[in-house]
Amino acid sequence: MQLSKNLSLAEMIISAEAKRKGISNMPSDDHLANMKKLAINIFQPIRDHFKEPIHISSGYRSLALNKAIKGAVSSQHCSGEAMDIDMDGTTISNAQIFDYIKKNLNFDQLIWEFGTSANPDWVHVSFESTGKQRKQILKAIKKNGEKSYINY
Ligand SMILES: [Zn+2]
Repeated sequence: MQLSKNLSLAEMIISAEAKRKGISNMPSDDHLANMKKLAINIFQPIRDHFKEPIHISSGYRSLALNKAIKGAVSSQHCSGEAMDIDMDGTTISNAQIFDYIKKNLNFDQLIWEFGTSANPDWVHVSFESTGKQRKQILKAIKKNGEKSYINY
């Protein structure tokens, strides 16, 4: 099943961790509808701009999977409203993806995930399915071994 022209449902639900633990990572109809909005409003414009495959390192997370990987309790990954993009090993950098989203798209939340000041380890981006986008931009850092967020 395609969520948008170049994003399949398979790319959004694949999880080695879910398989290893025997956890189902299939979305409900509501979450599937959210994923389509994320695909159309965020993923596809990025894909169309760079004209190269865009790699999702983490897409949908069922509640059971999110618990298993100790994800944030209120994570938008659990409602199909968020995805992590990691372009390591390609000709496009994560910083380029981050900058493109920041300058061109109507997103809810954009996070520069760890990394250096030149390039994040990956980019988290979300699209609020009810339509109201906060345009919040954060940077994730490690503070005393814990994940913490600062304003970008
Ligand atoms: Zn994320």
